[in-house]
Amino acid sequence: MQTMSKQQKQIIRTVDEDGVLSHWRDWHWQLRHCVRDLDTFEKALGVQLDARMREDFARTVAKFPMSITPYYLSLINTSDLANDPVFRQAFPSPLEMIISRGDMADPLHEGEDSPAPCVTHRYPDRVLFLVSNTCSMYCRHCTRKRRVGDLASIPSREEMRAGMDYIRHTPQIRDVLLSGGDPFLLSDERLDEILTELDGIDHVEVVRIGTRTPVVLPQRITDSLVDMLRMHHPLWINTHFNHPRELTASARRALTRLADAGIPLGNQSVLLAGVNDCPRIMRALVHKLVANRVRPYYLYQCDLSEGLSHFRTPVGKGIQIMESLIGHTSGFCVPTYVIDAPGGGGKIPVSPNYLISWSTNKVVLRNYEGVITTYKQPDSHEPIFCNRDCENCSLQLGLEDADEWKAVGIEKLMADHDETISLVPAGNGRYQRREDDA
Ligand SMILES: *Cc1c(COP(=O)(O)O)cnc(C)c1O
Repeated sequence: MQTMSKQQKQIIRTVDEDGVLSHWRDWHWQLRHCVRDLDTFEKALGVQLDARMREDFARTVAKFPMSITPYYLSLINTSDLANDPVFRQAFPSPLEMIISRGDMADPLHEGEDSPAPCVTHRYPDRVLFLVSNTCSMYCRHCTRKRRVGDLASIPSREEMRAGMDYIRHTPQIRDVLLSGGDPFLLSDERLDEILTELDGIDHVEVVRIGTRTPVVLPQRITDSLVDMLRMHHPLWINTHFNHPRELTASARRALTRLADAGIPLGNQSVLLAGVNDCPRIMRALVHKLVANRVRPYYLYQCDLSEGLSHFRTPVGKGIQIMESLIGHTSGFCVPTYVIDAPGGGGKIPVSPNYLISWSTNKVVLRNYEGVITTYKQPDSHEPIFCNRDCENCSLQLGLEDADEWKAVGIEKLMADHDETISLVPAGNGRYQRREDDA
């Protein structure tokens, strides 16, 4: 344990008059003393906000409450409060009250793709299972912020059971993603119960947990939690670092514990204006992540939830960042940049273009340096007509269950065994006319 900073000591004294220094390491203490009001915030950090900011604060928290762990609060750089990336992610801004054109309460239509309570089933083989609705820190950029602190959306035991039953009775589901809220705010025992139940379902091959605790509450990653988690392999964890400053000694210790337990770690960042919308910041972030055995997984375009307009960047900013990463640094440092499609279309990867043109025998490409190059394609390629008769195919795939495999989407258009020649959006006016005429 390193020595405490002056700021940490002042925070402890402010949030808990009986607080002793060793409490800092206790995640329950951290949770019990989350900062939720302005007076405590100011006193703990030794700052004073002007009258206008105080008034804005009151209006904003009435709609979107604040909660900051003492630990995360201690990362705020008080000498440049307004520009601090930790402050911006944690402290309410009056800009959250602005609902701009195109904003939506539930842009991802998680409610509509929910066949059972707590479950969003959007992709063929995996589901999102919301097992908790609480978080230790309320991220200002939360996509589900409309539900934060909403008592009505706490999943009940019965709802959880119905969700689990859906997973048990849906054999296509091979991957279950636990999210929330933050699943790591559940007790070790409750989490153990959920993971044990999922372990008992044959078709569930992997479980993933999405958590921000390594960032905002690294004290949560205790030896006992990790000892329990390692009994539930194959288990993957995705965390949510947005800025290199968040990779503190405590955060790194938490990541080491998880990685040492054999848990593959990924990171999902959100591209946030004024926080990390800069190629240099992103490059520093991904380098720090891989140095701590965390693989950058996704970089999200900030979605269209209400009150996030001040965090959004043009998509071009994300492309520019990807351009600065691809080729310039190790391939495993590069996340996939995605836009989560409004209306529930799922995550759509977007990337700079590297394929410039092509003819029947050559493709023309450019690399990260701007070098234009060609790749010569084979002069002849004998297509193998695929009628899904794998037994008699020269490729001899020998995949079990291959006969149940169904091509969907663009993959379907490419499949030889499928007659579909185009995919048409429902409600297409021209097709509607054809039907009306028929
Ligand atoms: C993100 C997400 C998943 C997981 O997607 P991957 O691309 O497999 O990481 C699954 N379900 C929903 C509803 C999601 O939003």
